[in-house]
Amino acid sequence: MKIALGIDIGGTKTAYGFVDEKGNVLLEKSVFTTSLSTPLDLVQLIKSEAVNFGYFDELVGVGIGAPNGNQFTGSIDFAPNLHWKGQIPLVQLFKNEFTCIVLLTNDANAAAIGEKLFGVAKDFTDFVEITLGTGLGSGIFVQNELLLGKHGIAGEYGHIRMIPNGRVCGCGRKGCLETYASSTGVVRSISELQSDNKKISKLIWLENPTAKDVFDLALNNDLFAIEIVDFTAKILGSALADYTAFSDPEAFVLFGGLSKNGDFFTKKVEEEMNKNMLNIYQNKVKVLTSSLNDLNAAILGTSATIFWEFFKEKKIIQ
Ligand SMILES: [Zn+2]
Repeated sequence: MKIALGIDIGGTKTAYGFVDEKGNVLLEKSVFTTSLSTPLDLVQLIKSEAVNFGYFDELVGVGIGAPNGNQFTGSIDFAPNLHWKGQIPLVQLFKNEFTCIVLLTNDANAAAIGEKLFGVAKDFTDFVEITLGTGLGSGIFVQNELLLGKHGIAGEYGHIRMIPNGRVCGCGRKGCLETYASSTGVVRSISELQSDNKKISKLIWLENPTAKDVFDLALNNDLFAIEIVDFTAKILGSALADYTAFSDPEAFVLFGGLSKNGDFFTKKVEEEMNKNMLNIYQNKVKVLTSSLNDLNAAILGTSATIFWEFFKEKKIIQ
């Protein structure tokens, strides 16, 4: 049985775990990223854990997911949410200590590969994993290959501009998809949307309401919360219809954050997508909720990047 080490580096926490080729998480742990003053501290910690738990000599690879992780260069490039600044040659740092293959990618690509190997996208050749967290990311499979693009940074679908002169985005432009369809986008909608139902909504009584509050209240028939969910689904559904027009995928898989309420949101997005869909694609494209277990999805995704390399070379049978 092959074992890979998956590491998911986030601004606050870094999760890591050992996973076998069937997708069983053998061990999972996490550490506060901010407690590691340099990337070298992370490499040393992970190595000592691998040795202590007896996996070090077994490992076929180390898969790392990180914000602004570039698969081509193996470095994290100027990630705004990390306290490690500048350009970090993370793959090289790991290779100095590990003899197995080491791969770095961004979290949306890792989620897409995880979905392909272990989730609902097993049988799909063309699909897009949409990660709905603080922002909106996308990992794109085209004809059974992950789309990386010329510079290794394909899939910034969160930054297509949906509303002319719309909400200001972290990228410096206006009206980007992720300023509406993401956890932070949903929170912005609470203050920005106007409606008669707002006055009677429980949302206005909450101190710092979250996207989860909006979804929980929507499920409890709070009319303003439902309006926000519908508005979010409308913009995302419309964006997916446009994506379909140039790329003809068989499915979109919604992952994380806003998709955690089962099919409640997913069905609304699918409905809105079909309303806006060019007729030749009508009813051909599915919108699905990710089946990766939320708790260890990041570990599954990052370790899957390693198994995917073997899978492509037919070294393992899935
Ligand atoms: Zn943007």
